[in-house]
Amino acid sequence: MTGRREAAGGDAVTGDWTPLPEPLLWMTLHGDQDVFVLRQRGREVAAAVGMEHQDQVRVATALSEIGRHAIGATVTFTAEVSARPRLVIVVEADGIGISPPEGTAAAGRLMDEVHVERDRISLTRRLPAQVGPERLAEARRTLAQSLPTTALDELSVQNRQLVTALEEVQAHRDELLTLNAELEETNRGVMALYTQLSEELEQTNQGVVALYAELDERSAQLREANEAKSRFLANVSHELRAPVTAIIGLTRLLLDARSEPLTPDQTHQLGLVQDSAADLLARVNDLLDLAKAESNRIEADWAPVDLAAVFGQLRGTLRPLARPGVQLEIAEPDPVDLVTDELLLTQILRNLLTNALKFTDAGTVGMGALVLDGRLHIAVADTGIGIPFAEQRRVFEEFHQVRGAHQAGGTGLGLPYARRLATLLGGGLSMVSEPGEGSTFTLDLPLRPSAPDTDLPHVPAVLVVDDEAAARQVLREHLAGIAEHVHEAADARSALAIATRERPSVIFLDLRMPGGDGAELIAAMAGVPELARIPVVVVTGADAGHVPGAAAVLAKSVLTRRAVADVVALVTG
Ligand code: ADP
Repeated sequence: MTGRREAAGGDAVTGDWTPLPEPLLWMTLHGDQDVFVLRQRGREVAAAVGMEHQDQVRVATALSEIGRHAIGATVTFTAEVSARPRLVIVVEADGIGISPPEGTAAAGRLMDEVHVERDRISLTRRLPAQVGPERLAEARRTLAQSLPTTALDELSVQNRQLVTALEEVQAHRDELLTLNAELEETNRGVMALYTQLSEELEQTNQGVVALYAELDERSAQLREANEAKSRFLANVSHELRAPVTAIIGLTRLLLDARSEPLTPDQTHQLGLVQDSAADLLARVNDLLDLAKAESNRIEADWAPVDLAAVFGQLRGTLRPLARPGVQLEIAEPDPVDLVTDELLLTQILRNLLTNALKFTDAGTVGMGALVLDGRLHIAVADTGIGIPFAEQRRVFEEFHQVRGAHQAGGTGLGLPYARRLATLLGGGLSMVSEPGEGSTFTLDLPLRPSAPDTDLPHVPAVLVVDDEAAARQVLREHLAGIAEHVHEAADARSALAIATRERPSVIFLDLRMPGGDGAELIAAMAGVPELARIPVVVVTGADAGHVPGAAAVLAKSVLTRRAVADVVALVTG
């Protein structure tokens, strides 16, 4: 420890940078021996200003790294207790920063900052936040009293630190091994779970495939059953018509004035038989009409029609049906150039008017015609009991009758039949009703038959999504000859499944469906690239205007075969 200049609390080092507070310690490195002393003093200063053990070792090691190559330099230890307390060690020698000592890089990894200038290198390390002026005064006192030890002492301290460091490394390694083992275990668990999930998925997939196969089979069965039903209805009603007509003929004969006289009782009873038979015949005829329409055995006989004459005939025949207090007002229509099937048109209107008269106790039942956008609209309006909102979607279904006061005889076949005829004539039938206020049924027809089917577009498959079976049926009929296959879905969820499986060319979608809005289906499809490409035609009862994501919007009130063909051509063309 010879020739070493060392002092505690010496003068502040002056230079061209911000003056630092009074140094804690400074020393000069005269020879190799002093490197050990520098290391030891570094550790002591770090301990005195409250650094933790690890930080003490950092400071000591950084100093010995630099000190080894900085013989002749002066080292000053200073502490700042400003907002960010830190220990600053400055190593000064002429030109020391021109080619910094080898250990500078190592010191840089151990300290927070290492700043190299021409004649000085400064090393900074943050201090614990609680270090204040008292602590520094205390540190200065301690350091002034402590004397540097020998190089050997410092070597043994260094050894001890090395052993501690090695132990720490070993502990870290053990911890790492444990972690690795745990990770492996977790991985095995994840793999097992993955395998189990894959198996379950495969099983579920098999189930879904089987379910779809069953569904297809059921659909085929349903179609067959429907055809069988139509055949049955046609046959039975046909077979029934003859005997019922015979009964009516026979009763008429018995009641004839020229026949054997009957007792008043017998006359009364025969009258009842005759009424029942007439009622039965009406129902049988309804069935037969519907069966014929279902099996597409009705063909329109297109010819010019005098609408005023049709209205006049209905006015004459139906007036007797109006209850006292009910006004039947059939307006005289403006002359119109109309080509349609007069018989079918009359059947539809008679059906609508009979219903209106049946369900109206007071007020009016009216009918009027109007040509709008090149189509004929005939409205039948009444001030009757109206149709409950919950039932409005179903009145066009076969055999559906509204319960309660609405069940006034009938078969529940009139409206579905009328709608079928309207479709056959290239038109549509729609309804609005306010319970307790009345109903309006509107028939819209083309003024003449649409162009022959030759210019119809052809697509492989179309999906019709509507919760109303009758509405799906109307579209199915319009799509005949346009789509090779027509798939149907009653809700958004099954629509998504069918669209995924069948990839239809077009989807006709009802916007308002209970349990899954049509708009949600559009959004769900937009998320799947293959489905996002399928054009969606929104079919709506409401005036929807523009629907985001839809290729086109069709109002139910103008849902004709021509309109359907045009929209298919438009969205697929
Ligand atoms: P039905 O032969 O029973 O009249 P429809 O198919 O013609 O069969 O009508 C189905 C049901 O719709 C009727 O039972 C009735 O409840 C209801 N309905 C039809 N038209 C009207 C109307 N103008 N006012 C009130 N309810 C009506």
